[in-house]
Amino acid sequence: MRYDLIIIGAGPAGMTAALYALRAEKSVLLLDSAGYGGQITLSDCVENYPGIANVNGYDLAEGMMAQLRALNVKLENANVTGVEPDGDGYRVLTASDSYEARAVILATGVTHRKLGVPGEEKFLGRGVSFCAVCDGGFFRKKEVAVIGGGNTAVQDALYLAEFCQRVYLIHRREGFRAEERLLEKARNHPNIEFLTNTVVLEMRGEMRLASLLLKNTATDEEHELAVAGAFEAIGSIPQNAAFDQLVPVDGEGYFAVGDDCVTSQKGIFVAGDCRAKKVRQLTTATADGTVAALAAIDYLDGIVQ
Ligand code: NAP
Repeated sequence: MRYDLIIIGAGPAGMTAALYALRAEKSVLLLDSAGYGGQITLSDCVENYPGIANVNGYDLAEGMMAQLRALNVKLENANVTGVEPDGDGYRVLTASDSYEARAVILATGVTHRKLGVPGEEKFLGRGVSFCAVCDGGFFRKKEVAVIGGGNTAVQDALYLAEFCQRVYLIHRREGFRAEERLLEKARNHPNIEFLTNTVVLEMRGEMRLASLLLKNTATDEEHELAVAGAFEAIGSIPQNAAFDQLVPVDGEGYFAVGDDCVTSQKGIFVAGDCRAKKVRQLTTATADGTVAALAAIDYLDGIVQ
């Protein structure tokens, strides 16, 4: 079967794109290598999605998929290895199959870079988070750590310091990548303590994270720091390598595509965190899904070439 539209990535951007395309009566195949939901499923609780005061990220993704199932979405678990031009459409390749479509939306998302230390996987969603804005509220009046030395880490520390009892900003070097303006604010904040030249060796606890085993790289001294939460802000990794011959990427590997989500390749659109942009939030991912789907629908209907 030749689909009208194949959407690669079933996170919030891809699922929103599917919702719009299915409602416009297009045939849609949604492909994802890891089920569906994307990064949002890692969030304990989402409190910044308009209209829903409080929802578990996994439940929110379930709700999005239930809405698509009611429209008879076709979802396949597949690791896409490439997209090739094929006549006036495209052939989407996976390790074991290939699928044809007139148009494709790349909604491949990003992966948060992880520390890769013992205990990290065990406490994901149980004290370890990649999103201070999403999960910070659960650590009110508690002691937490932010790991990283870029703008995200310092901004996260400043955000958390407004309601957490203490925020330890743990960075592996003495120098920071973050802007001086932000660093100055953090240095002057009474609730933020800088732990530089410090690396996390292990995350410890029973059911939830309780402490971090740290090492000072200048002195080689190790010590255990009691924290209820640890926010990793050590950068993101876009997952665009399989498509960078089709759509240009910027220096960090994000698709270099504007807010219209339209690429220079006819019939190829880009949506969500995989796109070069300043703000990566659930709301901006779903917004991109909408914009990309409407552009794809216009393309499929011959309204734009
Ligand atoms: P980033 O700038 O890449 O910083 C990542 C930080 O994590 C670096 O300090 C790095 O340390 C550290 N790190 C990386 N791998 C690590 C590891 N395995 N263990 C420990 N530490 C590790 O990432 P980001 O802060 O997410 O920012 C991404 C981009 O978005 C940047 O261009 C940033 O300027 C931009 N941004 C801008 C704003 C804004 O408001 N202007 C806000 C947020 C982000 P090293 O420094 O030692 O490499």
